[in-house]
Amino acid sequence: ARQFTRPLNELANQYNTLLSAIAGAERVFQIIDEEEEARDEENAEEIHSLHGKIEFHHVHFSYGQDDSTLQDVTFSINPGETVALVGPTGAGKTTITNLLSRFYDHNQGRILIDGRDIETLTRKSLRRQLGFVLQDSFLFQGTIMENIRYGRLHASDAEVVEAAKLANAHSFIEKMPKGYNTVLRNDGSGISQGQKQLLSIARAILSDPSILILDEATSSIDTITELKIQDALKNLMKDRTSVVVAHRLNTIRQADQILVLDQGRIIEKGTHEELLAQKGFYHGLYHSQLKETS
Ligand code: ADP
Repeated sequence: ARQFTRPLNELANQYNTLLSAIAGAERVFQIIDEEEEARDEENAEEIHSLHGKIEFHHVHFSYGQDDSTLQDVTFSINPGETVALVGPTGAGKTTITNLLSRFYDHNQGRILIDGRDIETLTRKSLRRQLGFVLQDSFLFQGTIMENIRYGRLHASDAEVVEAAKLANAHSFIEKMPKGYNTVLRNDGSGISQGQKQLLSIARAILSDPSILILDEATSSIDTITELKIQDALKNLMKDRTSVVVAHRLNTIRQADQILVLDQGRIIEKGTHEELLAQKGFYHGLYHSQLKETS
């Protein structure tokens, strides 16, 4: 498969370095956009608003020549629903989100958003409809205000603060000596892993995406921060289609639909109760792994 753009977290590392040298996030967006724009299909259309329906029809994909990373993946998510992708490491969960965001393009099958084939849309307009909360939050050297505002560059200070409040980040920000003017370092050191996630959630809330892609953290975070994150995510996911690479039992249990992946295939689909009743792969996963990580 042809790789069009590197996944966001890789980009983040690269641009972190770059960001120190240039002023403002606006410029970074420009660079990313230019890189993408050249590679859109001819006649690609802009998409401006979405209900958030997602369909995969018999999607096949491999990163390399011969292995098949995803095989015959078919599912459908209704607007506003939360779908949890679960399965062993390497099963293909992240790859599904990579294809949906067009960081890679699938080899066979169709991926539709609101009934439109994503290959007919410009990448830039597609990604504007997507919000990402990834394990490694993309923070750059700049103030907390600037880091959150990256979600919507023309947002006012008041809007940034409002988003931070919904993300349960406001109270820890306010406790810092310089508050929203605290400068974050390049590597994001100086604040905790959990606080980074809250900032990343604030940024996503500000960007107000129709579709949310969430890669749930596997690292352990203290219980209080974890509760704040869960609560902030509830605010973020409300009324949005959410695709969650899920590791926490709570998230999985509350999902409208669970897709169980193994070796690139969807082997089971359903709600937590339905899948437990089937006593299949998910049932085993639940008893062997999921309980411990919750
Ligand atoms: P999961 O998210 O379920 O852990 P992934 O979607 O990340 O699984 O990975 C599925 C398979 O694709 C794995 O075998 C992984 O090694 C491979 N893979 C993932 N990303 C890449 C990449 N950028 N290039 C080549 N292979 C990759």
